[in-house]
Amino acid sequence: MSWRYDIFECPNEVDDHSTCEAWSAPPIDILWDDRWKDAYLKAESLPHAVVERRYMGDLGWNTTPHIVFEHIDGGGVCFYCRERRGSLCQTAEENRFVCDTCRAGLRRMVLQTARNLGTDPSQFTYVPIIETIDFC
Ligand SMILES: [Zn+2]
Ligand SMILES: [Zn+2]
Repeated sequence: MSWRYDIFECPNEVDDHSTCEAWSAPPIDILWDDRWKDAYLKAESLPHAVVERRYMGDLGWNTTPHIVFEHIDGGGVCFYCRERRGSLCQTAEENRFVCDTCRAGLRRMVLQTARNLGTDPSQFTYVPIIETIDFC
């Protein structure tokens, strides 16, 4: 087993989780390797949860944990407009919450750029991560 996925559920009892600070609590579940999809789906089913991935294999790779997925009921505050809310998406940089309006515009840009370059557009960029888990 090489990749470990820890699921952390937010302990805050609030109606709106969009402004929660990071919390510390033991993981509610730990899944390994190709069960990463189950980890994402578990987080998706909770009001607010994150999935953290770390490498535990023996190839000497970096073992620092990284947050690879977060779900907030109603979405997180959009990184771009800071007004509306949306799902966590892969972007050209890191994963960010993006509202549908910003996402549509950014996605159009990805498609247009790919057309200009004559390449296939990324299936993942500016698409909610939870919608992409069956792509691979
Ligand atoms: Zn929360
Ligand atoms: Zn937005």
